[in-house]
Amino acid sequence: MVADIIDGKAFAGRLRERVATVAARFERAAGRKPGLAVVLVGEDAASRVYVAAKGKATIEAGMASFEHRLPADAPQGELLALVARLNADPAVDGILVQLPLPPQMDEAAVIAAIAPAKDVDGFTVENAGRLATGLPGFVPCTPLGCLMLLKDRLGDLSGLEAVVIGRSNIVGKPMAQLLTQASCTVTLAHSRTRDLPAVVRRADIVVAAVGRPEMIAADWLKPGATVIDVGINRLPPAEGESRGRLVGDVDFAGASAVAGAITPVPGGVGPMTIAVLLRNTAVAAYRNAGIALDENAL
Ligand code: NAD
Repeated sequence: MVADIIDGKAFAGRLRERVATVAARFERAAGRKPGLAVVLVGEDAASRVYVAAKGKATIEAGMASFEHRLPADAPQGELLALVARLNADPAVDGILVQLPLPPQMDEAAVIAAIAPAKDVDGFTVENAGRLATGLPGFVPCTPLGCLMLLKDRLGDLSGLEAVVIGRSNIVGKPMAQLLTQASCTVTLAHSRTRDLPAVVRRADIVVAAVGRPEMIAADWLKPGATVIDVGINRLPPAEGESRGRLVGDVDFAGASAVAGAITPVPGGVGPMTIAVLLRNTAVAAYRNAGIALDENAL
């Protein structure tokens, strides 16, 4: 079997086009663009790249981007005061505080300060609880993007066996909640799971969110399984390379011969994360302004 490649980049491009259409409609109705504020504390190189990419994508979707930078040694009170100003700013629909924060800051306290109606990352306890109880809220971007790719590929997911590997609050746990809501039979595996290959082998759907390069081997997969690889890992540079290759958590070459469909790294889940962030921001703008939007069509 040769797996179909799930083209997350192309899917994300179509989602961004739909977001741009609803953002333009919002501007006509509300007299302003949907707005996303991104806060970066410190000079972490990877975070700077992510923040720049988010700002560019926001503007390309016809939305307003507000970028705020604080020095690495800023006291937590300064960040909390900025979040409070953004909560109160009617031009700001979504607030994203780029993680990780410097060690003097308490991430949980900072996330808790974000108004749930502007929490487009879906990281607040309020939105996590809403997801867990099936109430409308905001769902973290990466797992929501994975669910969109799965539904696009498989249609109705009900009754399927899904195994999620990794139990982080931003990927694994919300992914398991979404798949439960979609009526899958869900196993949430993690570092203490016994006989992980046997657990993975029963899955029709595998979502890997571990952060270990090519850990999931081809012979762990049930033939025909749909594999969503969230992991982004950089290998050490091979001879003659200045930077190592990016790989996922799944042995892509091996798995491609067993799976029914698989996301590549890069070009799979990664592009979905930003596209869903834009989607959540547009949704927040409509909700905050009380303008009707068919959210399921986005
Ligand atoms: P995390 O470090 O918070 O969590 C990793 C999880 O993997 C933990 O729950 C742990 O129990 C589990 N784990 C660790 N070793 C394991 C093992 N040997 N067997 C089974 N489970 C094991 O990571 P995260 O934030 O959820 O991110 C996971 C990966 O996804 C990383 O590579 C990250 O870079 C990537 N990521 C990608 C995107 C994207 O946009 N594509 C977004 C977020 C995270």
